[in-house]
Amino acid sequence: MQLTNIMIHAMASQTYQQHFLLVPFMSQSHLIPFTQLAKLLAANGITVTIVLTPLNATRFNMVIDQAKASNLKIHFKVLPFPCKEAGLPEGCENMDSVTSPQHQPLFFAACNMLKQPLEKWLSELETVPTCIISDICLPWTSSTATKFNIPRVIFHGISCFTLLCSHNISTSKVHERVTSMSQPFVVPDLPERIEFTKAQLPEAMMKDSESLKEAIEQFKKAELSSQGILVNTFEELEMMYVRGYEKVARNVWCVGPLSLYEKLMLEKLGRDDKPSMDESECVKFLLSNKPCSVIYVCFGSMSHFQASQLKELALGLEASNHPFIWVIGKNDCSAELEKWLVGENFTERNKGRGVIVRGWAPQVEILFHPATGGFLSHCGWNSTLEAVSAGVPMITWPMVAEQFFNEKLIVQVLKTGVRIGVEGGGDTIVKKEDVKKAIEQLMEQGGEGEQRRNRAKKLKEMAHKALEDGGSSSSNCKSFIQHIVGQVHS
Ligand code: UDP
Repeated sequence: MQLTNIMIHAMASQTYQQHFLLVPFMSQSHLIPFTQLAKLLAANGITVTIVLTPLNATRFNMVIDQAKASNLKIHFKVLPFPCKEAGLPEGCENMDSVTSPQHQPLFFAACNMLKQPLEKWLSELETVPTCIISDICLPWTSSTATKFNIPRVIFHGISCFTLLCSHNISTSKVHERVTSMSQPFVVPDLPERIEFTKAQLPEAMMKDSESLKEAIEQFKKAELSSQGILVNTFEELEMMYVRGYEKVARNVWCVGPLSLYEKLMLEKLGRDDKPSMDESECVKFLLSNKPCSVIYVCFGSMSHFQASQLKELALGLEASNHPFIWVIGKNDCSAELEKWLVGENFTERNKGRGVIVRGWAPQVEILFHPATGGFLSHCGWNSTLEAVSAGVPMITWPMVAEQFFNEKLIVQVLKTGVRIGVEGGGDTIVKKEDVKKAIEQLMEQGGEGEQRRNRAKKLKEMAHKALEDGGSSSSNCKSFIQHIVGQVHS
């Protein structure tokens, strides 16, 4: 929806008093876009409070520093995380600290226990917030919002392609009519022919996972009872799927890509995190390589690989003969892998050709560096959107959750990626030959490689345009704020 200048002017004065409460799920890939959304809203004149827990607040302290430096009104409401009460180890406040599958439901239970202290805090406020923006994984915010009479919307950190595919699969139950995990089925009522197998669907959609299915139903209910959804995507990226999902949700406001918004905002302020990058080995390495030559390899915040798989990956990277930056996530660092790397003399053998980062890398900076030419990724939505924003083509290696949907969007719909070839179901090992082949395919000079790169560059331009004044995401953000302001003042 386009806003007239008069409306925008009227809104600017009204938004001054607005206070939006953001309630994220305590996982890195939810917290990152939530804090980026906070910056977007605060830059639009809103006072924002983000609910966090002590350790997560420490991790995101720089958000407060950046907000102070740029006069943005962003605050944290820190609530103790009930590790002990939920039966979790002390300090397990973020999903990336959950290392055993048995702890996962306990972690969700602990997040649900935040309801009571949050409501206590709300009841003590002189004026309650004008809007609650809730994570989809916290359906209890629905009753909190009703209790305090606060409009509530859901913030989605996934694409409209995923939302529409999941919705159409769940409502048609088309996946229940196929006989094997590997038999493809067509998702009904989509603008294009899109096929999946059961092995590629999120665990929560599968028949034998009753408790997860129940949780998903609660999420869906909480979404449908909300006033609408904010989505970390941009309309031009997946127009037909946005329009399709507008028929499901009451309102759809696509306001992304949020990581790009944050990057541009920090650059404007002259605070683009350059110091940390300058110091890092990654940047020195990138500076020493030719444009579009480096493969960046990272599997998000929660990867759990067998050491045997990581050995194949390492050998494939080496065999590809392309420079690489390989992030070994904290849960993937193991004594077995380290012993193998030393035994193989892998680091020495690849000196000058590859860099290994253990733990956490400055992903957005790496992706935007001119030397980066490809991204081997697990296809988490944040990573996918970051690659789109940076104009970097992808090698897709999805594993769980909605990652196969993102692969399909990148490879089939947008045509900016190549598959490594995993079919889902968990136990396929990707061989070093598969890694080498996919890298060669992606980095091909001329031919399809060039066309893929050109398409990726176009998407980058479109993402930038969406965030400019008058662009789709910028206008959607304003019309979302107007939607809330209109209710408060009516
Ligand atoms: N990330 C990062 N450095 C790393 C690993 C991850 O900055 O070494 C960031 C990445 O840029 C993205 C987020 O963590 O914003 C991961 O989110 P995604 O949705 O891609 O995957 P998930 O963590 O949910 O599997």
